[in-house]
This record gives sequence, C-alpha cells and structure tokens, in this order.
Amino acid sequence: MTTQTSKLGQRDLATVWHPCTQMKDHESLPMLLVKKARGVWLEDFDGNRYLDAISSWWVNIFGHCNERISQAISRQLQELDHVLLAGCSHEPVIRLSEQLVDIMPASLTRCFYADNGSSAIEVAIKMSFHYWRNRGRERKTRFVNLSNSYHGETLGALSMGDVALFRETYEPLLLDTITVPSPDSFHSEPGESAQEYAIRMFSHMEAVLQEHHEEVCAVIVEPLVQCAGGMRMYSPKYLSLLREACDKYGVHLIADEIAVGFGRTGTMFACEQAGIAPDFMCLSKALTGGYLPMSAVLTTDPVYEAFYDEYETLNAFMHSHSYTGSALGCAAALATLEIFKEENVIEANRKLSREFAEQCERFRDHPNVAEVRQCGMIVAIELVKDKASREPFPWQQRRGLQVYRYALQHGVLLRPMANVVYFMPPYVITKEEIRMLVDVAERGIELAVKSEG
Ligand SMILES: *Cc1c(COP(=O)(O)O)cnc(C)c1O
Repeated sequence: MTTQTSKLGQRDLATVWHPCTQMKDHESLPMLLVKKARGVWLEDFDGNRYLDAISSWWVNIFGHCNERISQAISRQLQELDHVLLAGCSHEPVIRLSEQLVDIMPASLTRCFYADNGSSAIEVAIKMSFHYWRNRGRERKTRFVNLSNSYHGETLGALSMGDVALFRETYEPLLLDTITVPSPDSFHSEPGESAQEYAIRMFSHMEAVLQEHHEEVCAVIVEPLVQCAGGMRMYSPKYLSLLREACDKYGVHLIADEIAVGFGRTGTMFACEQAGIAPDFMCLSKALTGGYLPMSAVLTTDPVYEAFYDEYETLNAFMHSHSYTGSALGCAAALATLEIFKEENVIEANRKLSREFAEQCERFRDHPNVAEVRQCGMIVAIELVKDKASREPFPWQQRRGLQVYRYALQHGVLLRPMANVVYFMPPYVITKEEIRMLVDVAERGIELAVKSEG
C-alpha cells in the first residue's frame, strides 16, 4: 500500500461514516479506495483492478463511465441542471415519462418521481393508502408483505420489509404489517417444483386476503427475487395468483422492481414473466444506469383519477422530494433506455446467463453448498455447514466475509450476504471475465468453508 492510499484511508476513517457497516471492522479490514472505474473494473490508487461483480450495489448495468451515459449527463449539464418539478417541467422528464409508460404494461400510464428506492416505496404506500381514503375506504390502513422481503431503509419502507438484520432494532417505530410466508423455493420439498411450491404457499396469502381485505391497502412484493433476503427466488406463478387475488379482494398490488427491473431477471421487468401488471411499479437503481440517484413510481389512470379534483377537496397527493425528477437523472435514464433500444441487451444477457450457469455447475455437488440458484443475471451460491441437513454456519463466523477478503485480494469485488455468495455484475461483463470471477469465488469459498471459523 502506498503512503497516499494509507493517508486517504486515515482521512476517511476520521470523518466518513459508511452505510450498512460496523465501522470497527475497519480497524482490520482495509477500505477499498477507488480512484477510477471503467466498464466492470474499479481501480485503486495503486493501480490494482477489481471486477465489480455486484454492480456497485446492483445499480450499474452498462459499466462505469459508459461513454453514452456519461456524455448524456455532460450534455444535459450544459443546458439545465435541476429545476423544481412542481409548477415546472422540462423536456428530459417528459421524454422519460413517455418512454417509461411505453415499455410498461398498458395500464401503467402515470409517473411520479423521487430520488431513491426507499422514497419510491414511501410514495407507493402513501399513494395506495390515500387512494382508498379518497374513495371513502377509510378502514384500509394496513399492508401485506412477504417474509424475508426487503423494500428499503426509511421507516415506511422498512415496515414493508422483513429482514431481521435491518428491521429488528427499529421494530417499535414501524407500521403494523401483515407478513405472509414467502414462496421462496429454497424451502420446497424434495421433488416439488418451484411452481408447485408457489401454488401451495399461495394458500397463506389467499387466507390473509380473505380475512383482512377490508383493512388492507396493498400487497407489496419483490417480483421473482428477494434480493436483500439472500437472493432467494420464486416462481412467477405466485405473481399471477397474487394479481388475481388482489383483483378479487379489491387490494392494490405494489411491485418493487427496484433491484430486478431493467433486464436483471432475463426480461426487461420481472412482472413480464408472469404476464401481470401491478397497480404500482417502483423503479430505481438501474433506472439511471447506476449513475445518479433517482426513482419512479408508475401507476394507473384509476389511481391518478382518485386524486384529480377541485383543490378544496384536499384530495391531492402533497408528497415531494427536493430533487424530484432531476433533469440530470432523467438524462442518464434516457441514455440507459436508448442503450436497451439500440443494443439487443436482453438477448446478449441470455448468453452471459448461460455462461454463468455452466461455470457454476462446479458448485452443485460441493459438500458446503446447499443450493446454486439463478434468475437471469443473478446467480447465488448458498453456503452451509452441512449439505444434507442444510445446517447453516454460525453467523458469528462470518464465512462470507472471508470470501470477500479473498476475492478482494484477487481482483474481484464480491459482497456476500451472510453465507450467500452471489454474482450480479454489469451486463457488459465478458465470458472470460465471468470465468475469472467464478474461479476466484471458488477458491475463496474453498478457503472460507475449510477455515477454523
Ligand atoms: C435497494 C432496494 C430498495 C431501496 O432502494 P434505496 O435506493 O437503497 O433506498 C428497495 N427495494 C428493493 C427491492 C431494493 O433492492
């Protein structure tokens, strides 16, 4: 390590409080100081390169410093930086809204903007609640979610989630959500397909909706993959059953595609695989290609119309964020959508997904791997102490952290969640880079499962 790197590291620790981090870890764990980045590669101040195998927290899809996206932002900066979106508008936000509506199911016709994923969730739950209120359904005050779900960190969004690590401490502050067991196919019986399991698990949802629909505003789900819950996956069948049930019981469906949207699961949006349209679609992360903070909530004409009234009714949606619909964010998002339009991204990803599948075959029979699962450009390897019983490694042993350390020393940035090692790289990764990545992960896993703990 050069003196420049170590000085920067010291300055960082003197003032910066990092997200989702026990800062004391950094007494022994060096911070990765990134000087620059291009494509899938990050570079530190000593010239070492690291493959960004997790798309910088799932946001980057077309690589770092992508020419088209960077240029679009820089062109936008010559024209208009940011202006409030109340009473004002601009061409980038109009074009982006038109294009988002264009690629969505036909019923989603209205775009509301915020500046991060959690805020999009806040918007969706407030809008749903407020919709019912404007329609005279004041008993509807509750939300239904799935176990092991994740929808962000602000208090409303945190209330919608169920991952104990993030939620438990704040429990006294949270909304009273009804949690239904997830259709996560990790828990299916031997010989039972993901679809059969989804159908079986849906009975819990059906029962809750039957009993509580009079007081429920909406059901909120992460379509197909519960990412922060450890990349747990489930059959699209669950989504089609859920859509039918929400219609039957008069309850909204909120699809949180913040992590899975924009091609991640093999289709542009995960909901497409079930052929359904939600009442609210939340987007963020890859919306701007991973360049700028921005989020959008798409909803339907009936929802929009429930707020459209004389001012004196006080039915308007009075929610706002300072950076709502930032022109710079819109420019980045438009450039991102242009890449989808002009390059056959979804098809190209299919080939990369197949390469991942082939490369990850090697883990299937490993005595410490409970499951290798994949949904499009997400691959997860779940490590356990014992394959047959699926007994987990004690969490205090932090085996995933050992994989992280090894990978970082060997040019790969992974960030296992507990004992789940996963790959979720930018779509510009090459087959050779996939092989390198899987090789490094394999050696890291080998070391981590054999260590004394
Ligand atoms: C990341 C994420 C969020 C929260 O987005 P932030 O921008 O981090 O607030 C919400 N839902 C899902 C499914 C996510 O993966």
